[in-house]
Amino acid sequence: MIKEDITKPLRRTFLWMKVIVLLCLLQTVSYGSGFQPANEQEKDPDFIFVGAGPVGLWTGIQLKIRQPDADILFIERHEVYKRNHTLRINKSSYAGRVVDPELEKLVKELNGHVRNSYLENRLLGLAKEIGIRINYKKVTGVSELISEFPDTQFIIGSDGSHSMVRKSIVGETLGFQRDLKYIVDIKYEVKGQAMRASYLNEYPTTKIMNHLATEYVGRSMDGVTPVTLRLFVDRDTFMSLSGSTFANPYILGPDRNKIPKALDESIKIWMNMKAVIYGEKRVEGSEKVLPIRLQAYNSSSFVKSFPEENRSFALVGDAAFGVPFFRSLNNGLLFGSQLASALSRCMEKDRCEASLEKYSKFLVNLAKKEIAVAETKSTFLSSFGWLVSLSNIVPWQLNYWGKKKAELFKTRDPGYQNPI
Ligand SMILES: Cc1cc2nc3c(=O)[nH]c(=O)nc-3n(C[C@H](O)[C@H](O)[C@H](O)COP(=O)(O)OP(=O)(O)OC[C@H]3O[C@@H](n4cnc5c(N)ncnc54)[C@H](O)[C@@H]3O)c2cc1C
Repeated sequence: MIKEDITKPLRRTFLWMKVIVLLCLLQTVSYGSGFQPANEQEKDPDFIFVGAGPVGLWTGIQLKIRQPDADILFIERHEVYKRNHTLRINKSSYAGRVVDPELEKLVKELNGHVRNSYLENRLLGLAKEIGIRINYKKVTGVSELISEFPDTQFIIGSDGSHSMVRKSIVGETLGFQRDLKYIVDIKYEVKGQAMRASYLNEYPTTKIMNHLATEYVGRSMDGVTPVTLRLFVDRDTFMSLSGSTFANPYILGPDRNKIPKALDESIKIWMNMKAVIYGEKRVEGSEKVLPIRLQAYNSSSFVKSFPEENRSFALVGDAAFGVPFFRSLNNGLLFGSQLASALSRCMEKDRCEASLEKYSKFLVNLAKKEIAVAETKSTFLSSFGWLVSLSNIVPWQLNYWGKKKAELFKTRDPGYQNPI
């Protein structure tokens, strides 16, 4: 009698299992050389913007609206936008934009006085909504970018006034550069709602100060109002404050000994006037001192093409040119719309060179005009400052502080936070 092997079915199952495992292993090995993760298989973006500030985003959004199939990548070094000042946006700066219902909503909301960070967040939200990609990392050089994305045809430098793209492509030397004015901003917070000084109080106060002054009062939020006192200073005063930076500004209390005497006196007079006349109560220790150079400059060129590599570069926003007196962002919005239109036409290959050339010409003319306007404003400000100081010594003054009040503003303790 043949004894039945009861383990036979079990062994057969094991054998099949072994075959399946072996086949799986073979499959993995055969994939080995050719396999790439999904993101490596993706083609390079059509457009790369270095820097996702407001002007870059404004340009990229319009390009995406014009060319919905275009793959647009922004590379930005900061996850949270660093600028947080109040801007004055003129409606006319949105001229030449693409017509789109979502963009219209945004334009309606974003004019007049707008916080830079608010503008940035609204633009960022829309950009992501319509499919623009953002990578957060610092781009250290254009060649690094090209080796990572060899097939990207268009690289746009929207990386601000110290543009790395501009330096790599055009060089360190600017086409034009001149310091027009030097200012010192005293940024502080007021408890509750702050009031702007009326011209009837601002003028006689400026007359007894050592510097021409003006102020900006922001919107109050969470029980405090941001205020900026702006003083026009000479180059030496500006240079003496070079230790105070945006990242580490001097604070009026602890760093008072680092502030030149004449400037300290001007600040004190203004703060006292605001405290006495308007009952202004500052948030202790909030008074930051920021020296700012008001410079007009432009890049020596705005677009550059390398036909042999099938690659073009363009600059937009502060990377291309900048002028003081509240015009830089406004200009950036204006020529950002032009660049979006030019790049969109670039997707129809044969019209690319002419479109970029047209964009460049637009910028050359705009920069020339804006620099001339800024220089005129600067001259006007100097003459005004001279007239104000003159009007303090003539005998026929109409609007001035009496001796008692002037003395009070000069001597009262402004109550800065004491050094710790
Ligand atoms: C106090 C103050 C008040 C102003 N008020 C006005 C006003 O009222 N009206 C007006 O028109 N203008 C005003 N301006 C000017 C305005 O703020 C700028 O023109 C505007 O912010 C420029 O925008 P942008 O997108 O070109 O550059 P930016 O805002 O500078 O953005 C550039 C972006 O590029 C990123 N970046 C830079 N380098 C790299 C890199 N290597 N890799 C990756 N990312 C990078 C930065 O992180 C940044 O996010 C004011 C400026 C100041 C300082």
